[in-house]
Amino acid sequence: MIPFVNLVEQRNTYRKEFEEMEKSILDSGSFIGGSQVANLEKELSEYIKSHSSGNENVESVACGSGTDALTIALMALDLRPGDEVIVPDFTFIAPAECVAFLGAIPKFADIDRETLQISPRSVEKLISSKTKGIIAVNLFGQCAPFDELREIATKHNLWIVEDSAQAFGAILSTVSKDGSIKNRAACTFGDIAITSFYPTKPLGCYGDGGALFTADPQLAERIRMIANHGSKGHYQHDIIGINSRLDAIQAGILRVKLRHLDDELRVRQANAAKYNEFFSAVAGIIPQKLAKGNSSTIAQYTLLVEDRNSFIKILQNVQVPFCIHYPATLHSQKCFARNMDIAENPAATLACTQAISLPVCAFTNVDEIIQRIQTQTKV
Ligand SMILES: *Cc1c(COP(=O)(O)O)cnc(C)c1O
Repeated sequence: MIPFVNLVEQRNTYRKEFEEMEKSILDSGSFIGGSQVANLEKELSEYIKSHSSGNENVESVACGSGTDALTIALMALDLRPGDEVIVPDFTFIAPAECVAFLGAIPKFADIDRETLQISPRSVEKLISSKTKGIIAVNLFGQCAPFDELREIATKHNLWIVEDSAQAFGAILSTVSKDGSIKNRAACTFGDIAITSFYPTKPLGCYGDGGALFTADPQLAERIRMIANHGSKGHYQHDIIGINSRLDAIQAGILRVKLRHLDDELRVRQANAAKYNEFFSAVAGIIPQKLAKGNSSTIAQYTLLVEDRNSFIKILQNVQVPFCIHYPATLHSQKCFARNMDIAENPAATLACTQAISLPVCAFTNVDEIIQRIQTQTKV
């Protein structure tokens, strides 16, 4: 059986680097924080800077998971009970859940039918006097429409949290008026950005992990304190925080994988291009569109399929694994029942019936998958 994400092959490929790193950490006796985490944070910031033409400087703060990172971001921005935050209706639960967890109210925005990213027009319609900010998700690895979102945020005095759980390494290129191309790495668009190091994300560790990013040194200090029981250390607690930290061993794994990230992203993009070429000739199937200038991490290779059930039967016949991201809109989830009075989100609702993701990681043999599917379709 083909694995959906081939972490075994990835480990075999970099085995020597992993084993050296793991041994040195286990022998060091230092398991939480310390130099591995500090070095990872430095290297994440350097990566973002070196992939941005404007030399964007963000401080990185590692933490326990992507979900923790979202919670810490909202706490750092002083989100209060009763405040409203606009989140996409078609994404993983975490952004909406963290808002509700802090007693605030998620408002669910519709998405663009083709790119599947949060729709700025829908965001604008949801703004009220209680709205404090927007959580924009870089869904499946491409950047959300930040130019338009920032314009809206500035006009209404809102913050933006960039959920880049799926998109560390994504780049957005824009052409300036003088014709020069300006690149900007993901995790530089939000007032605070976050990522997740869950094992199957494009940059994943061997357990849970996450990080926050901000260009504002005061926010960075607050984030560090919140992740550490509201303390700068020495048992002085100035604000209410939580316990959220990255283990040294996870930081070490991530430092090895970060060295190979650009190569892996290139393979993911080549895999997506092969799929695109194949599916462009298949009626009733359209790949998620990348908006102009996007270099996506292809965290998921996602198709919109008119007759998804028949397509699933084909995949099952030829033993190709798949995932449904996502089977239901967030506003329709039971836990948000009190929000049921919200307007329908037709594009998000349709995507839930059509979206299906295929294996695409750098260790996936996409040619073989295409060959298998080809035996079942009229191409
Ligand atoms: C995975 C994911 C998260 C949560 O990350 P964890 O590390 O699993 O807590 C948040 N947002 C999005 C969009 C995700 O895909």
